[in-house]
Parts: sequence; C-alpha cells; structure tokens
Amino acid sequence: MTEFQLIERYFTSQEKPSWLRTGIGDDGAVLTSDPRQQVVVTDTLVENVHFFANTSAHAVGHKALAVNLSDLAAMGAEPRWVTLNLTLPEQNESWLQAFAEGFYALAEQYGVTLIGGDTTRGPLSITVTAGGYIAKGQTAVLRSGAIAGGDLCVVGALGLAALAVAKRKAGEQPSEDQANALDYPQAQVAAGLELQQYASAAIDVSDGFLADLKHIAEASSVSFCLDGNALQQMAAEQNEESAIAMFSGGDDYALLFVLSPGKQPPAWAQVVGSCVSGSAPLKLVGGPDWLHSAFDKAKNKAGYQHF
Ligand code: ADP
Ligand code: MG
Repeated sequence: MTEFQLIERYFTSQEKPSWLRTGIGDDGAVLTSDPRQQVVVTDTLVENVHFFANTSAHAVGHKALAVNLSDLAAMGAEPRWVTLNLTLPEQNESWLQAFAEGFYALAEQYGVTLIGGDTTRGPLSITVTAGGYIAKGQTAVLRSGAIAGGDLCVVGALGLAALAVAKRKAGEQPSEDQANALDYPQAQVAAGLELQQYASAAIDVSDGFLADLKHIAEASSVSFCLDGNALQQMAAEQNEESAIAMFSGGDDYALLFVLSPGKQPPAWAQVVGSCVSGSAPLKLVGGPDWLHSAFDKAKNKAGYQHF
C-alpha cells in the first residue's frame, strides 16, 4: 500500500459537511468562515510515554481524539473538526483498521469531521489538532478568569487512570473502571457546552488534580480551600493510595471549574471546595486523616512534566 492508498483506505470514510469546502486530498482543507469564536487545541500521544506499547490500537485511536475533545470542553467549545498526524513504525493493516475504528467511533459520537493530516514513518506517535466553536455571543472560558467566592466544581472521576497505570507497572490487572479510565477516557463534551453559563474559569485535568488546580490559581491570582468531606466521597477507595492518585494522578480528563458569582452548581458537577482571594497555598479542610496525609504528600508534587 502506498501512503496515498493508506490514507484513502482508512481516513476518508466520513461525509463532507457543508462548512467544509475542501477536505482530505488537497494541500490544505478549506473551511467556510463562521462569525463565532473558534478554539484550536492540539495534543500528541507518544508510545511508551502516553500509552503502554501493548495498548490496543482501538483504544489509542479513541484516546488520541478524546484528549483533544477534553481540551475543547475545558474552553467551553463545541468540537467540529480535527486533523490527524500519524507516525507509524510499519504498515500494519490490522493495527490501522482498529485505530481508525476507535478514532471514528468517538468522532461520530460528537459529529467531528477529520479534515486532513499527515502520515510518516518513525516511532509510533499520534498528533491530533482539533477546532471547535464557542456559542454565539459567548466567549471562551479561560484559566485566568476565576473569581474568588465561587465554588470549585469537578465533572468526572479523579485518580482511576493513575491507579490503572500503577497496577500495570506492577504487572497486575487494573479493575474494569480503572482500565477504562486510562484507555477510553471520556471527554466532558456535554459539560463543556454549558460551561460559559456556569464557569468563571476552567481547566481539564491531564497532569493531576492539584497540579491543574494550581494552574487556575496562578493564572487567576486566587487560591482554593478544598472540602475534605466532599473529596473523601470522590476517592475511588477509602485509603491513602487512592487519595494520592486522586490528588496527583494524571490522565483523568475530568473538568475543573470555578462557579460564576450568583450561580447554583449544576447537577452534573460535584462541589469540592471554594475559590478564595489571595495567593496562599491550597488548603484542605475536614475529612479523614488518610486524606490529609495523601494531600500533604501530593501537594508539593509537580504534575507530570516531560522535561
Ligand atoms: P502534502 O504532501 O501536500 O503534505 P500529503 O500527501 O501529506 O499532502 O497528504 C495528502 C492529503 O491527505 C492531504 O489532504 C492531507 O491532509 C491528507 N492526510 C494525510 N495523512 C492523513 C491522515 N493520517 N489523516 C487524515 N488525512 C491525512
Ligand atoms: Mg503531508
């Protein structure tokens, strides 16, 4: 198979939407203009860095798209288009077939169209770039907008993916929930669409809950007081290991947001603390000793850093 036959076989199955003048097959994609604010995000997955070498191709296809949908959700954007840059060590048709199925299953779920990409040979790595729109008359939700006084809310689970990584590294089998959180993360797309109505600031949790919360704190010059009783409820198990995974484990793709003044928290979010003025360190109030012990160990850890 030539490179062009490969692209034709695996990556041209979607219908062309009306906003796409020219899709895959020319030097560039041509999109009709749109008056709404557009958000563009990109994320790379590298084998043995972002996923274990034995992860199924279907899961890799899903995750490469999901992590980008999560970034769009955190900005309050509705996903629309993606590009796919694939670097493959070899031409493996069953791998490509399963990868494409995982990728398209998620793309179709959210009406996202693949508009282009690049295909090269080298160590396995996947880069997806995605574009989405902010609802008419609204603006994107930034890390820097947090207003003190609002509740801190979480959408999705925390710490399951990190527990799956720990188990696999130890040669053990993660639970089904843990394995799914790691291999098939669910981007909070529906919550993202409602975010402008509720949030003064938001971020998606990719590096770890506390590390990503600090990004909002720094960008907005605020701090947070965490509710130990609410966070105890969010721990996968009632022990320190599970709480450390919740506080510092990465790869969750949950959303964190600060509730706007005068808003009631929506039913789809968990309130886990409040945003406070000033730049004091993050604080944990209430909850069991094991949670505090996990917090003390996790709070000085930086999130995952490549360099
Ligand atoms: P060029 O040489 O102009 O960079 P390519 O040969 O790389 O073009 O790609 C040909 C067409 O196929 C382009 O429209 C490109 O966007 C698309 N394409 C290449 N690889 C992929 C891929 N992995 N997924 C989707 N589209 C792809
Ligand atoms: Mg090219």
